[in-house]
Amino acid sequence: MPTPGASSTAPVPIHYRIRPEDPAAHLFKVELRVETVARTALTLDLPAWIPGSYLIRDFAKHIVRLEARGDRDQALAARKLDKQTWEIPSEGDRLTIGYWVYAWELSARAAHLDATHAYFNGPSLFLRVKGQENTPCRVEILPPTEMPASDWRIATTLPREGAEPFGFGTYRAECYEQLIDHPVQIGRFDLIEFPVRGVPHRIAISGRHRGDGERLARDLARICTAQANLFGALPLDQYLFLLTVLGEGYGGLEHRDSTSLIARRDDLPQPGKPEVTEGYRRLLGLCSHEYFHLWNVKRIRPAVFVGTDLTHEAHTRLLWVFEGITSYYDDLFLVRSGCIDERSYLELLAQGITRVLRTPGRNLQCLADASFDAWIKFYKPDENAPNAIVSYYAKGALVALALDLTLRQRTGQRCSLDEVMRALWVTYGQTGRGVPEDGVETLVEAVSGLDLDEFFSQAIRGTADLDLPPLLADVGIGLRLRSATSATDQGGVVDRFAPLNPRKTLGVRLDEAQAEAVIANAFSGGAAMRAGLSAGDHILAIDHIRATRANLDTLVDAIPAGASVPVHVFRRDELMVIAVTPAPAPLDTCDLCLLPDAPPAAQDHRRAWLGPPAGD
Ligand code: ZN
Repeated sequence: MPTPGASSTAPVPIHYRIRPEDPAAHLFKVELRVETVARTALTLDLPAWIPGSYLIRDFAKHIVRLEARGDRDQALAARKLDKQTWEIPSEGDRLTIGYWVYAWELSARAAHLDATHAYFNGPSLFLRVKGQENTPCRVEILPPTEMPASDWRIATTLPREGAEPFGFGTYRAECYEQLIDHPVQIGRFDLIEFPVRGVPHRIAISGRHRGDGERLARDLARICTAQANLFGALPLDQYLFLLTVLGEGYGGLEHRDSTSLIARRDDLPQPGKPEVTEGYRRLLGLCSHEYFHLWNVKRIRPAVFVGTDLTHEAHTRLLWVFEGITSYYDDLFLVRSGCIDERSYLELLAQGITRVLRTPGRNLQCLADASFDAWIKFYKPDENAPNAIVSYYAKGALVALALDLTLRQRTGQRCSLDEVMRALWVTYGQTGRGVPEDGVETLVEAVSGLDLDEFFSQAIRGTADLDLPPLLADVGIGLRLRSATSATDQGGVVDRFAPLNPRKTLGVRLDEAQAEAVIANAFSGGAAMRAGLSAGDHILAIDHIRATRANLDTLVDAIPAGASVPVHVFRRDELMVIAVTPAPAPLDTCDLCLLPDAPPAAQDHRRAWLGPPAGD
């Protein structure tokens, strides 16, 4: 309802009423009441994408029905102008638009509704009134018509306007941009609260599990505190981790005051088991990543994201900053906060280096282009993706590592990436100014006093591999590349570098969903691609012996060096015989080792790097 007694100058809030109306059909009913301006027609649209996920998703496709009424309740004919825009004629001062939204995507980016819960992101549900983007909004969240359970609560960081804490009722937002930046979980969830610098933080865990939420909260408190200490400020009144646990799944999306996360229930810490499992380490890394975004991308933002209307792509060459640097710090804060030890961190680092080395596309695509083309490449990977593109997450994290260690080395340990992040926060985050495309490089040079033109040209606009060994040696760490010993070998930490004989391989990755040997990717320069094998080919036999996903590596490695053997494959439904000469496996696996003879200065440098950040 319009606010009673609103002055003529204050805009009347736009009122949204949301009801999870039909859980069985996965339909939300939304009613939007809005004042018309001078009785002219209204234009309404839904975003094509959600901030933080750089893919055109066309959320409007899920509006299954829409109807409009005037202030005398007369029906008005809505007219579609394009795939996501409606025009409503006006015959009075007020319009009511009712619409139904299909919600059956269980991800951090969309909306999902059934008898167990209701979840939505604003871009899926809230039509935007063009020209009234800065008008305040009221959101009335109603329980389902037939309430599946009386113990459903609401977890969101939308400010309350009359609703009881965690209750149904009315919430508010200052403008449309704020309205769509608070995901909402409705249902049953565990709620655990912990303070960070006096600010209430909460985890709401949805989904069946027997995990130890209190331990997760204790570890998150350490990670969040360490990050807040880096920036020296926590620019919010509350923060919410909205975690949904499933049998399988992994993902997260950042917001200003919250994050939506999907993880495996087995990744939660289990009561009575104090170790940090690989799964729990991955979950902590995901939480750490999304929390770091509350500064880096939600408040320190690329200029092209400021004021974007979300109707079409917003291109930036800076995603290596916003995702790469965030990916570097997510794991770094696990060790800095003491949640994992130094060896565990180095294992993650080695795996990250291996991941980049196994991407031949790094030789073709530079980080600036990877960022710019994220919309059509990184977010739309196909079978050739490893050969054509590089991840601005994985390589971006390595560039952040190289930049951090370079700054430390060349300034005599005076300056690090921490100082750069603080400067980004003060210059752009606190002021709300967008970061121009050349803003980060300029600021790094200003903060450090170094000329880093060559560094950035090579790391961001070039495709040569980063020269990490001398930088790691400066913190007492040795790096060696070797060939993989098995399909699951990702590299790691070793006590010393032992000699290894390279295996022979085809240079393919198999489809892990199948027991048969079906090629998912054939890598550029690999034996299979050179011989003419392709993604999708089903390998039946190697040298007349039946091949499966389980025995392919063994069969290939047994072939004498330099020998060519017949490989039987089905391509579609046609049998082919292709002669293949397996090749020694490439040196694409990274081992890291603490150097026993590193000078004391290097040990000090490592402690300064991996220890708690200097801050207030
Ligand atoms: Zn991210």
